[in-house]
Amino acid sequence: MKQTTETTPTFFCPVCRCKEYVIVCREVPDFRFRVDGVWSSARCLNCNVIYLVAPLDDSKSPCPPPVYSQHSTPDVTPLQGKGLSGKMKEYIRKSILKKHGYNIEKGNCFLGKLLQFFPQIVLKAQWGQIIFPSAMPHGRLLDIGCGNGRFLNIMGKLGWLIYGVEPDPESALIAQTTSGALIYPSLDEIKALPFQFDIITMNHVLEHIQTPREVLNACWLLLKPAGKIAISTPNWGSLCRKVFNKYWYGLDAPRHKILYECGTLKTLLQESGFSEHIISTTSIREGMVSFRKSYFFRFGRSPSTIIKTSWFFVSMLAELCTSSLGEEIIAWARKK
Ligand SMILES: [Zn+2]
Repeated sequence: MKQTTETTPTFFCPVCRCKEYVIVCREVPDFRFRVDGVWSSARCLNCNVIYLVAPLDDSKSPCPPPVYSQHSTPDVTPLQGKGLSGKMKEYIRKSILKKHGYNIEKGNCFLGKLLQFFPQIVLKAQWGQIIFPSAMPHGRLLDIGCGNGRFLNIMGKLGWLIYGVEPDPESALIAQTTSGALIYPSLDEIKALPFQFDIITMNHVLEHIQTPREVLNACWLLLKPAGKIAISTPNWGSLCRKVFNKYWYGLDAPRHKILYECGTLKTLLQESGFSEHIISTTSIREGMVSFRKSYFFRFGRSPSTIIKTSWFFVSMLAELCTSSLGEEIIAWARKK
């Protein structure tokens, strides 16, 4: 597709306020929830983030987008397994937890290290969490956008002192009731607390935030010196996005406001006062889901088994060659 540079006073980059952009996806409908309207995505020519712009044609005004909601009780498999298979899974899980430094009975740290070569097993043992902080006795953890509190439930059981931010009252109530964490409706209430945090996590939250710089600055203030921030977010640089572009599942217009690649996220973190970045991508959790959905959005039907299998091997090969093509970005950084 031919891209032309456009300048207009109507739109500006929400990260750096630059008014120069190129449209990278035009006339994108809401493939997921079928809200009326079409949206476009632009690449900022200054900071390179991808941001959602209002319809270019003013006559097509968008409806308010539906919000995600997590109103079900979080499903967290207990640490203790039942039966032979349950006991084996428990041993594997405890071995991986030991590798993360958690002080628990049973499990074998060496086995935990060995299992790192089998990411699917690790992911399952970590209750499906790709952000998994290592142990820190009496550490304080804040999860921004905690939904029904599933992640907080897990971290609370592992000994973290847990806190959450969740604007949806129903999800917040479930999170508070099931995890015992204190859940606040916004960062403003957290700022008033008389202590700082050892770690702040944002699991698929940053892409919904229209003012990421302000939120990261707030996180910086909320963290203890050398405290860590951990972020997961869809990867605009993923292979699936490169193939499907406007049909890419991770685009999720109009709910995803800003999308990042490894480089743009690293720059934003640097400019917000974070260093020691470890930024990687993975398709382990979302890769096949995103492919199936993107394929459906593009062709109106599900991919055949042969196509799915081919994609699996092609994407695996691509990720072996370059580490930036995975479906999700995982970023860790430390407060300077
Ligand atoms: Zn910008």
